[in-house]
Amino acid sequence: MVQRHATSPVNVVFTPDIATWAISNRIGVEGNPIATSIPQIAEIPRRIVLKEPITENEFLGAIGRLEISGEWAVGSRMRREPKLFFTHLALHELAHLENNWPQENENECDAWAIARLED
Ligand SMILES: [Zn+2]
Repeated sequence: MVQRHATSPVNVVFTPDIATWAISNRIGVEGNPIATSIPQIAEIPRRIVLKEPITENEFLGAIGRLEISGEWAVGSRMRREPKLFFTHLALHELAHLENNWPQENENECDAWAIARLED
């Protein structure tokens, strides 16, 4: 799913705690998010890092933020189909990598991901 929309290799990493993962990999990550993306570092390809498992509060909080930004229809679909949410999360991080969008460009990344959700 992610590779199909990626213009160059990207590895998807699952970890129970992104802040801890970042420290052990000597990567600066702000706070302890449920997902982040790391650009290519020397010969290490780009990475999408996803927290697994996430709590119900994290799940509902992320969907709530999406809905507040105006994405009501897709938000309700994700509440019914959690798999769709996780695909969106990965595509959202890919949007940062593909477009070199900083972490502030959250709405742009969501729109980019939602446009590719059904592909
Ligand atoms: Zn983001």
